[in-house]
Amino acid sequence: MENGNSPSISAIPKLEKKLLERIGNSKVSLRIMHVCGTHERTIAKNGLRSILPKSIEVISGPGCPVCVTPEEDIDIAIVLARNGMTVVTFGDMMRVPGSSESLLDSKSEGADVRMVYSIDDAVALAEKKPELEVVFFGIGFETTIPANAASLLRNTPDNFSLLTSQKRTPPAIGILANDTEVDAFIAPGHVATIIGTKPFEPLAKKGFPVVVSGFEVRDILLGINMLQIQIEEGCSRVDNGYPRVVKQEGNQVALEMMDKVFETSDSEWRGIGRIENSGLVLRKKFEEKDAAKKYKDIYASFVKTIRKEAEIKDKKCCICAAILTGKAKPPQCPNFGQTCTPKSPVGPCMISQEGMCYNWLRYSREGGSRLA
Ligand code: SF4
Repeated sequence: MENGNSPSISAIPKLEKKLLERIGNSKVSLRIMHVCGTHERTIAKNGLRSILPKSIEVISGPGCPVCVTPEEDIDIAIVLARNGMTVVTFGDMMRVPGSSESLLDSKSEGADVRMVYSIDDAVALAEKKPELEVVFFGIGFETTIPANAASLLRNTPDNFSLLTSQKRTPPAIGILANDTEVDAFIAPGHVATIIGTKPFEPLAKKGFPVVVSGFEVRDILLGINMLQIQIEEGCSRVDNGYPRVVKQEGNQVALEMMDKVFETSDSEWRGIGRIENSGLVLRKKFEEKDAAKKYKDIYASFVKTIRKEAEIKDKKCCICAAILTGKAKPPQCPNFGQTCTPKSPVGPCMISQEGMCYNWLRYSREGGSRLA
């Protein structure tokens, strides 16, 4: 099942075939949303949409961390880089456009922007180069946030700070449940590894069946069938389809570290807007490490300049907002595969390997869906 273009049924392994039979035998039709770029990658790469029965539609929500990072936060990182800070972040994040340009564009204009693989690399750079003011632009979901917390609980050098654009997954799913036509949710297994299954319970209480799934083809098929079973039983609950990794209570050590360092705040999501309690910012105790506070005077006025630059730039229409909320599919975008490709991305969904446009273009123009 390596090809996104309709794998032949005889090539499907036994267990997956059995799960497909069970899904096909169920009379339950479902429109399911997953909220994870890794799930989308497995689905597109293996052409799952082409082998699922027509009664099952799987759509993607906001599962890619760089895709949901708002332009405003990227603008702040760019202003800091333009004003002498050394801004370090993940490779994909460097390519995502803010309102005027990306961090990579700023780098090509002379700003000190560097790629790192983790916050630890950023701290190591600050230790090695005390003459630099190192700002780690920390984005992502509950999967990467514990590492940020762990670093800050150790002593970091004075010339290190964190610009956070960290997101909590459950509040965003809650908003989508109200806004999008969807019957059930596949919750991300890696996020649930940290936070457990309980934070998804309010969704089930609203009447949406939820299953926490892993990332193999069989995990996703099992998850779909578990959702059908909930509907057949006439209930909605949170099922754990990834028990080899996920515990109901999550990872207590990681949760405690996160709680010591961060507190919840409202947060802006690209394509969705402001969501109550969906962000994690540094607690007062760590404000010296908070780049948003430390450099506020520097970026406050310059961000306006960037917005003005944006107004005079010819922005190509990008429908990532609709894609991130399950309201559109990549081929509906006129730029898809034309003016927007992974080498020359127009919007964030074409940049990361977790982006929906990237996966649909790379593995199949239809995201492994039925063409008819
Ligand atoms: Fe945006 Fe490109 Fe996707 Fe269109 S194809 S929605 S421009 S990322």
